Amino acid sequence: MDARPRRTAARRTRSAAVLFLVLATLASGGVLQTAAHAAVHRTKNFVVNAPTPQLAREIADSAEAWRERLAIEWIGEPMPDWTEPCKTVVRVSPNLGAGGATTFVFDRGEVFGWEMTIQGSKERILDSVLPHEITHTVFACYFRRPLPRWADEGACTTVEHKSEVGKQERLLIRFLKNGQGIDFREMFGMKEYPADVLPLYAQGHSLTQFLIERRGKPAFLAFLADGMVDEDWRRAVAKHYGHENEYALQEIWLEWVKAGRPRLELEPDVAVAAATPTTPQSGFPVRQVSAQTDERLAANRSKSVYMSYDQVEPPEAADAPREPVRGWAHGNDAAVNGGATYWR
Ligand SMILES: [Zn+2]
Repeated sequence: MDARPRRTAARRTRSAAVLFLVLATLASGGVLQTAAHAAVHRTKNFVVNAPTPQLAREIADSAEAWRERLAIEWIGEPMPDWTEPCKTVVRVSPNLGAGGATTFVFDRGEVFGWEMTIQGSKERILDSVLPHEITHTVFACYFRRPLPRWADEGACTTVEHKSEVGKQERLLIRFLKNGQGIDFREMFGMKEYPADVLPLYAQGHSLTQFLIERRGKPAFLAFLADGMVDEDWRRAVAKHYGHENEYALQEIWLEWVKAGRPRLELEPDVAVAAATPTTPQSGFPVRQVSAQTDERLAANRSKSVYMSYDQVEPPEAADAPREPVRGWAHGNDAAVNGGATYWR
């Protein structure tokens, strides 16, 4: 559980203020012109605030489609409708870097209070930012608790467009060569973002992809669910992937990266089981949100909000400035990624 108070960038606070202003004028479904943002479109699970009515509708419809597709892909069934729609603010411009932030509240096995801000070109919003942010919501509804950051961000990155995934893969090589790789034992224990988040995203994505290719998505989810029970990741790695400890997994993953990430066959003992995919916990928890009141939302926002804050489109240049990264890190002062050099 993320016990820290909500920390938001100034940009986000402004967006939220605009959002609530707009919602106050929203009578019912459909497209509504507003002064604060150009238009709002409401579907069952999203209220999208976008620059034009057409964009608001297109993004809301795409969000619903991704929501259904990704839930089936990961969990094996569609996600039940939320009790309240996700408040979604969109900034669209061809020159905007692609990124997003999603917040929600965990409270006594329930999750609610969905808010999303996304930005980028229309193309990247539809094929990368939306699926990334919506995958966060799928995991939140399934696990009903925060995931380790490497796994959450890593898995969400696997559903992005291949051009975005390719950037992460190129960044990973750079980080490993520069000694910015994160020791697996440290990475597995991270509940918050490190000060420099890009290595976590790149490495988290690569390890997630490696594990999914080897044993499939249900096994990956089972591994996470099991490891979160006691945070004994050494035990979970041994049980679910057959390595003695995190370091043994780190070494074999690194060999795979050095070999150019060749496509892997499902390991023989899971190939048969994978033909009929099942998740460790069958489907989404039946328990829904008992009541989402403003009071309950406000009380929990101060203690159990969970937030992803993504720059989906990382800087490409080898000497790209680091300053923008600090702006959207989470304020964790721990220096966790300076020591290890994996690329030998
Ligand atoms: Zn994310």
